[in-house]
Amino acid sequence: MSDLVPKPKPRPAPESLPYWQAAREHRLALPKCEDCQKSWFPPSRTCPHCLSTKFSFENVSGKGKIFSFVTFHRVYRPAFTADVPYVVALIELDEGPRLLSNIMGVTHDQVKCEMRVEVVFDDYDEDISIPKFKLV
Ligand SMILES: [Zn+2]
Repeated sequence: MSDLVPKPKPRPAPESLPYWQAAREHRLALPKCEDCQKSWFPPSRTCPHCLSTKFSFENVSGKGKIFSFVTFHRVYRPAFTADVPYVVALIELDEGPRLLSNIMGVTHDQVKCEMRVEVVFDDYDEDISIPKFKLV
């Protein structure tokens, strides 16, 4: 028996499937409303700004800033034992929407609000790539 516990694999819902398909191709794509032209995250069946059901997924820059973050110092899931301490950050994309992710390639004490970041893709397996961020 392995000591290594696998990290949980994201399971796309019907609303988020285009997001995950784009991520697999290393593109960050968010729903964009055809009526009010705004983007949002997480994906949903209606635009949260105007309740329109007319939207499509469009690529975004993948660039933004750290709006806020927390550092996890405790192990809440065994799969993340080797990562502690790790940062979970709220990334504000240049296009406006905010999403939760991890900051890669730095230690937790190097992370500060307002730092510029860009998306990178963590290939979980042949089906799933997880959008994460690195400092720029
Ligand atoms: Zn809208």
